Amino acid sequence: MTSGPDDATGGEGPPGSDPPTTEGVDVVSCTRCPRLVESRSRIVNGVGPADAELVFVGEAPGANEDSEGEPFVGRSGSVLDDALREAGLARSDVRITNCVRCRPPENRDPTGEELDNCRGHLARELAAVDPAIVVSLGKVPSEHLLDRSVAVTSEAGDVADVRVGDRPYRAVISVHPAATLYDGGQRETFFETIARAADLAGVGGDDGGQSSLGAF
Ligand code: SF4
Repeated sequence: MTSGPDDATGGEGPPGSDPPTTEGVDVVSCTRCPRLVESRSRIVNGVGPADAELVFVGEAPGANEDSEGEPFVGRSGSVLDDALREAGLARSDVRITNCVRCRPPENRDPTGEELDNCRGHLARELAAVDPAIVVSLGKVPSEHLLDRSVAVTSEAGDVADVRVGDRPYRAVISVHPAATLYDGGQRETFFETIARAADLAGVGGDDGGQSSLGAF
């Protein structure tokens, strides 16, 4: 998908040896999804380092995210922060983004058309960051990235090859952190998945980021 005339992104990052930046892939103006333009108060772009080895992809901004302008804040964000900490990582070590950048009305799932509309924005972000591992947080992002039905509970921790835009990525399937709030039994699954993803990406842990996993 190419940018339409109603898209506008930030400028290109600084040249030379300056730190990498994703400024050029932040969406600052987009009206492709009329229903979401009505329901959003802002476009919520991804946050985190421009060269992160681990990128988390959620579904869409909720009320807290729409209010604060950052993905995965509130209770789900706290669970994600806890799992990252246990894996030896801070939120500031990873990049966190969503399949769609505008809050759906009444927190409904984004439609297939809305997911397709926003996929180009995600593709540009992933291409700029070039992570070792992409983690799909929940059913909607997992099925969007893998392009098939996904049983996230039974497939959590599995690795899949996905293509976003014209680039391949390795994705780790995960339950949504909110699932741990409603079903305590999912907490261990979620924490183990995040630790595995960090290990596969070669980040976090007590050994300075050296992966302890061999080929998988
Ligand atoms: S969800 Fe994505 S494609 Fe749709 S209006 Fe928002 S930024 Fe644009």
